[in-house]
Order: sequence, then structure tokens, then C-alpha cells
Amino acid sequence: MTRSPRVAIIGAGIEGASAAFYLAHKHAVVAELFDPDPYSGASQVAAGMLAPVAEAVYGEEGLLEIMLEAARDWIGLDATLRDSFGLDCGYRGGGSLLVAVGPNDAAEVERTWRFYRKLGLDARIFQKAELAELEPQLSPDISMGIYAKIDNQVDNRAAHRSLISASRTLGVTLTNSRVTEISPEHNGWRVQPEIGSARHFDKVVVAAGVRAGEIEGLPGFVSSVLRPIRGQVIRLAASEIAPAPSLVIRSLWQGRGIYVVGRKSGEVVIGASAEEVGFDPTRRARTTYELLRDAFRVLPGLGEMHLEEINVGYRPGTPDNAPLLGEIDDGLILDLGHFRHGILLASVTGKWIADEVVSPGRNQAIKAFDPARFAKSRGGGNVS
Ligand SMILES: Cc1cc2nc3c(=O)[nH]c(=O)nc-3n(C[C@H](O)[C@H](O)[C@H](O)COP(=O)(O)OP(=O)(O)OC[C@H]3O[C@@H](n4cnc5c(N)ncnc54)[C@H](O)[C@@H]3O)c2cc1C
Repeated sequence: MTRSPRVAIIGAGIEGASAAFYLAHKHAVVAELFDPDPYSGASQVAAGMLAPVAEAVYGEEGLLEIMLEAARDWIGLDATLRDSFGLDCGYRGGGSLLVAVGPNDAAEVERTWRFYRKLGLDARIFQKAELAELEPQLSPDISMGIYAKIDNQVDNRAAHRSLISASRTLGVTLTNSRVTEISPEHNGWRVQPEIGSARHFDKVVVAAGVRAGEIEGLPGFVSSVLRPIRGQVIRLAASEIAPAPSLVIRSLWQGRGIYVVGRKSGEVVIGASAEEVGFDPTRRARTTYELLRDAFRVLPGLGEMHLEEINVGYRPGTPDNAPLLGEIDDGLILDLGHFRHGILLASVTGKWIADEVVSPGRNQAIKAFDPARFAKSRGGGNVS
């Protein structure tokens, strides 16, 4: 009988957690997760939108297929976590709306709709009366919008916790230590945690988010390819007099886009800024003001809610906005660079990474995200 590979996963954000879950659940391979603080990364700051339609962007059509697959797969993942493990990811269906506030914004939203239609996406234009029926809390100033049925949401914090919890139920261990260095050794990899002694693993998955490049022993291109895109969000609490909107609402006002995500739990997330300023944890007053101002314009009832949190996080960006997925050396696998789609993609990329650990090279779809596309031009290293 062949023994199960010993697998280390570095980083227990939603990507590492979903890879650990699929490895254990689908392949009965129990990994060791390393993370000094699993609830400190982007996965806890995000808004949890599962939005392949609203996030479709000119020039990024290649990503669309995996985003659509991920949105569909979340339905199954949510059901598995609920039915087999008794865990609630806060999945909420019902679709989402992109609304225009002024006449120029309406023209832009119509252009966006034509783009969606060209891509074959299911999105419908709704006029004022239909919008009011769909989301009664919308401001009467809103003239038109696009409804996308497939764009839904999870409570990303609950989903992330659920994936870790289900993985632990399946035997995955969580070691609360940073990994400082990895190095190849006979038939596998030596993993050096900050706390405790080095250990040997057959395979290593690097899912350490935007700071993965700080791990010694990774090829140089990893740190040069990943960059933080700062995002600030606001969390409010709804109440009986100020209920949460039931759909995900995105709005365009004078060319500025924001979103409002209302959870079943009553949490409401308003976001987000996107700033190329490196790692800067300042919770800016101006950004808070602008987000609230634009959100109140669309959903005036938000003003009555309780202000709970202002959070800053860093999207793990890459030069082509697509993730780095796959083996870069014998038994060394990257699961990085999910940029602004990491919550959405986790339902698919966790599965693909688990497949890659167990049967390298078998999954054809993952090849489109091969990290080797950056290896040559950016401080390469020995990437096979
Ligand atoms: C403001 C904002 C809003 C967003 N909204 C959405 C959204 O609505 N929908 C969506 O799909 N995506 C969204 N995203 C993107 C999404 O949050 C990320 O793509 C995703 O969380 C990345 O997950 P991750 O597991 O790779 O990284 P992280 O969640 O950052 O986790 C990385 C983990 O690795 C650990 N780590 C780091 N270095 C080491 C080391 N050396 N050793 C051990 N562990 C280490 C860290 O402690 C951390 O826990 C948003 C992001 C931001 C910032």
C-alpha cells in the first residue's frame, strides 16, 4: 500500500484553508497548516462577494471561466460544509445589482451591460420601478441598473473559519508559527518554522498571501511578482429600523464605484478603496467619508446603522491580475496572487491545488495560471 504524502501548507488564509480542506476531504490526505495568525490576512477583511459578472473586466476574459466555475462551485461547497460538518458560511443567493446614480453613470452602466452581453453573461437591465421592487431600500434617485443572478456572496469570515474547522475535523493540524525558510532535501522539502525545529515534508504548498515572498528559499520571482493593493472597507450593523439590503448592491456615481454587501447576520460591508501605496495600515478619514457618502447616496437607510469596524487589507496582486497556481519545483506548489477574487476563487483553486498535490500535471485547467509565466523575466530561480 502506498503511504499518503506528508504535506505542509504555509498560510491558513482562505486559500491555504481550502486547499487543506479539499486535500483531506477529496483525497484523504491530511496536511499540516502553518500560520502564526490565520485570521490576520486579506481573507478577514474582504467583502465576500462571489461576483464573476460584476468583476468581469476588459482584457481579463481569461479569468472569467474560472470565476464562473467558482461561483457555481460555492453552492456545492457551502452545502457540503453545512450538511456534512454543520458549518454555516453565510452563503446568500438572490443576485446583485449594479445601479447608476446620474445620467452619465447610466450611460456607463449601459456600456457595461453591452460588454456583459458580448461575453455571453446573464445580466438584465432593470428600470426604476423594477429596481424598487427588487430592493425597496434603494434611493428613489436611482434611474436604472443591471441585475446579475449568478453574483452572490458568502460571509468570508464565516467561510474561512468553516474551512479551517472542517479541515481540523478531518485531522489537519494547525501549527501557529510562521515559516521562515524552505529548502529542498532528499525526496522532499525541509520546512523551518520560526518556533520549533525543522521538519521534513514530501510536498509543500505556499499559500502565504501577499507576503509569501518573505519566505527564504522561494525563487526570487515570487517576491517581485506579488504586490499589495491596499483596500479599506467599513462594517456596519443593521437593526430592525435599519435592515440590511438583501441583494449585493454596487453603484456608480460620478464615475466612482462602491459596493454594499448585506449579510443574513445583519452585518453590512461597504467597500472599497484600491490603492497602490504598499503596506500602509492607516484607516483614512477621507476614505471612510467617501465610502459612506457614496453608499448613503444609494441606500440612505445605511445612515441609521451602527458603525462597527473600519478595516484595511492588502489584495495580493500580480502583473496580469491572475493567480499563480501550480508546481514550480518537484513537490513545491504555489497557491498565490488571488488579487480581488480570492474568496470567490477559493472554491475552485483549493480543489485544483489538492489535485496538483496528489496527481501533478493531471489537471489541465490549472496550466493557464502556471507561475512559470513570470519565472524567466523576473529574477527566475530554478523553476522547472
Ligand atoms: C478590501 C478587500 C476586499 C475584498 N473583497 C473581496 C470580495 O468581495 N470577493 C473576493 O473574492 N475577494 C475579495 N478580496 C480579495 C481576497 O480577500 C483575497 O484574494 C484573499 O483573501 C487571499 O487569500 P489568501 O489566503 O491568499 O491570503 P490571506 O488571507 O492574506 O492569508 C495569508 C495567510 O498567510 C499567513 N502567512 C504569511 N506569511 C506566512 C509565513 N511565512 N508562514 C506562515 N504563514 C504565513 C498570514 O498570516 C495569513 O493568515 C478582497 C480583498 C480586500 C483587501
